Amino acid sequence: MKELGQQRILVTGGAGFLGSHLCERLLKEGHDVLCVDNFYTGTRRNIAHLLDHPYFELLRHDITFPLYVEVDEIYNLACPASPIHYQNDPVQTTKVNVHGSINMLGLTKRLKAKILQASTSEVYGDPSIHPQPENYWGNVNCIGPRSCYDEGKRCAETLFFDYHRQHGIKIKVARIFNTYGPNMHPDDGRVISNFILQALRDEPITIYGDGSQTRSFCYVDDMVDGLIRLMNTPDDFTGPVNLGNPIEISILELAEKIIRMTGSKSKITFKPLPADDPKQRQPLIELAKEKLGWTPEVPLEEGLKKTIAYFEDVLKVGH
Ligand code: NAD
Ligand code: UDP
Repeated sequence: MKELGQQRILVTGGAGFLGSHLCERLLKEGHDVLCVDNFYTGTRRNIAHLLDHPYFELLRHDITFPLYVEVDEIYNLACPASPIHYQNDPVQTTKVNVHGSINMLGLTKRLKAKILQASTSEVYGDPSIHPQPENYWGNVNCIGPRSCYDEGKRCAETLFFDYHRQHGIKIKVARIFNTYGPNMHPDDGRVISNFILQALRDEPITIYGDGSQTRSFCYVDDMVDGLIRLMNTPDDFTGPVNLGNPIEISILELAEKIIRMTGSKSKITFKPLPADDPKQRQPLIELAKEKLGWTPEVPLEEGLKKTIAYFEDVLKVGH
């Protein structure tokens, strides 16, 4: 039996970086949370502190296979997010986005529930418009090493909007820009985890290319807040809506900042830029401001401080 005002919420990919924070926040809000994960990139450590919570349930399951559960809302986050992880098994990456989305959309249809898709700024590819508004259609290579993720996520958006138009199901599509914070996988190869770990170990900081490419980094608490606000918007608002912190920084500046903040002896080394690496990325978030009343609040330095503390702990006790 659910309690008054309580929603039964499914979080796919709930043991991952973003998912674990989302589960924790939804439990704090009094909801009944079902975390579904196949532990492809997520870990038990991320959710270990939730396992004894009376309203938390964990199910090991791969969403490319059908799932029969009863819930009111679904946050569909299951998909490896870091380039190293999603390129490790590119066919599975496309599958989780296409088959996984079809399964979760079918579940939503049967339950007459509501579903939120964790889409990505990668749907814009290597953007020729800067910063990126939601009505920009993107510049995406469909046969490159990043395509399994970019095209997978684009197809997932197509499926969400077709299920919405064809079957009238309630959808919300968030285009998430680079997000960071505690619970990131230490080996995921993303820039913030790489740089912090390299700095803490006094190893060379590996900049790909000349470091002039830019990203805009959002702290995880802000992102989780944006996702929940989006889920709670009126049914006629579907998105897609950009969620990210619009403050842009070059990768070289980021490296220097992390060296400074950790007091590291690391030196910077330059490595080849991976294929199709976007040169710049910055969200326009006017729509999120208007429809969600949302603006990210955590400054980069403050978020980095918490993330550095997390990785110091990982180095002491392991992930
Ligand atoms: P993550 O890799 O830490 O988490 C993904 C989770 O999904 C993991 O726990 C993994 O085990 C699980 N998973 C993968 N395939 C699965 C499957 N077939 N069945 C069940 N579970 C499966 O990544 P994250 O950073 O937490 O990203 C979460 C979501 O947000 C992803 O969909 C990602 O594409 C999206 N996103 C993240 C970012 C970011 O910067 N973190 C940016 C844009 C979009
Ligand atoms: N990057 C880097 N050194 C690293 C890891 C990443 O210079 O050790 C660069 C990468 O080439 C990209 C940016 O940092 O230009 C962000 O990379 P990440 O993998 O975090 O996310 P992306 O936005 O590319 O998906």
